[in-house]
Amino acid sequence: MAEFGFDYSGLKAYSGHITDKDRLLKSSSGGAASHIAEQFIRHGGVVLGVGYAKDFKSAEYYCVNTIDGLEKLRGSKYIASRKMINIDGEYRSVYKVVEEYLIKGQLVLYIGLGCDVGALKRYCQANKIDDVNLFTIELICVGTTIQEAHSMYIQETEKKYRSKIRKLNVRYKKEGWLPYIRIEFEDKNVFEAPFNESDLGIAFNILYRRSCSQCGYKGEKHVGDIAVGDYFRLEHDDDSYDENGVSILIEKTEKGKRIIKNIEPDDFLLKEIDIRKALLENHRYYKNLEADIDTEPIIANLRRNGLRYAIEKYYSYLIPDSAKCGSKKTVVMWGTGTLFSRYSLLVGSLCHVSNVCDNNEANWGKVFQENILCISPQELCSKDDVFVVIMIENVRARKMVEKQLEMLGVYSFDYVLNWIKYASRDMFN
Ligand SMILES: Cc1cc2nc3c(=O)[nH]c(=O)nc-3n(C[C@H](O)[C@H](O)[C@H](O)COP(=O)(O)OP(=O)(O)OC[C@H]3O[C@@H](n4cnc5c(N)ncnc54)[C@H](O)[C@@H]3O)c2cc1C
Ligand code: SF4
Repeated sequence: MAEFGFDYSGLKAYSGHITDKDRLLKSSSGGAASHIAEQFIRHGGVVLGVGYAKDFKSAEYYCVNTIDGLEKLRGSKYIASRKMINIDGEYRSVYKVVEEYLIKGQLVLYIGLGCDVGALKRYCQANKIDDVNLFTIELICVGTTIQEAHSMYIQETEKKYRSKIRKLNVRYKKEGWLPYIRIEFEDKNVFEAPFNESDLGIAFNILYRRSCSQCGYKGEKHVGDIAVGDYFRLEHDDDSYDENGVSILIEKTEKGKRIIKNIEPDDFLLKEIDIRKALLENHRYYKNLEADIDTEPIIANLRRNGLRYAIEKYYSYLIPDSAKCGSKKTVVMWGTGTLFSRYSLLVGSLCHVSNVCDNNEANWGKVFQENILCISPQELCSKDDVFVVIMIENVRARKMVEKQLEMLGVYSFDYVLNWIKYASRDMFN
């Protein structure tokens, strides 16, 4: 059972989504977190989850005991939250608030990232709190953007559009599940763009918290009763697939089992899946973010000149390098594994990517992240003037692909991390 570096034999996995389209569209993935939260409220419980602060520059905890109140929790916020709750104008520690509810014997559902749930559990242990009524949901998590990048984005956007933000959604489902950013301004104007092409999306991809590359809540170290995430890799012909989002749910504890058992089947389509398949298809449950971008110079630039400038500066050194593959060339990525998940969005934001190619026949014809169709090596050869960005980490496997490419007559290629590092090396000199 050491296949993923930990013993997963005690875990169970499910796919699922809210069946009502309007409600599903409001959630990030399949709406598992919101659906379970609703059920807790219906059973007299309170839910503690994360929403944006009033000015959208940060995220903080909210305590919710009505179905309507869950609205502000919906959707992912890609920053770490403040562990504070505003109660009647006064900020209080979220841990204290949870403690008070538990002492009163109230049913509590706490939703957060792995480190959020871990911190609450440590608090309960240290203060000998009886947590029999405490249930926890962890989000499967790649890591968060640094706070400064997020608040700078809000500041720059409000300045650019000369209006305060009224609503922010970084998982807006404009065209199905592909995340868009949608900002509603007080003057009623609206900004929409594919999230990964927005400055906030780019910041999420390149300005991550370095500590997240050494997350202490992966694999067997998860502490939540269940973990929920995106099930992007679910086959489109699976009967539990929905183009507007599907959740993956991983049950860990007895309480997790109770949460899953109590999911009302009327308006949530739940299906047990093989745990090994689930882990293969969502590696963030056990695998850390690869911190291979030197974020320090970008952060220094962000502090001096703002986010837009820092991104432009970063890209101005990447783009000439991407020009190596030339805008007229047909750019194809090779490999659909970890590096693809991590970098396909960044590569896609730098140049137009035609396809992804893979030796695995099972992937041919499948559509991956960002609507990229996977083709076979034979199809790759039939394309004119191709440049291949190799998305394979293992050196031996990469060398084999390079050899294969040469045999196919494709001599124009680069390893994705060279491509990025080469470009960023002299960036801020
Ligand atoms: C920083 C971050 C990184 C993520 N990385 C991955 C990943 O790599 N792979 C993956 O499969 N899924 C990841 N997710 C989870 C995914 O984006 C969805 O949040 C998750 O699938 C829940 O969606 P839902 O439709 O069930 O929830 P919704 O109905 O949309 O409700 C969202 C819930 O998430 C909580 N929440 C939102 N933002 C935060 C936050 N910053 N801190 C704590 N709680 C928050 C809210 O309280 C709410 O309860 C990440 C989420 C975040 C916030
Ligand atoms: S990767 Fe780990 S440490 Fe970073 S935000 Fe997610 S759970 Fe917390």
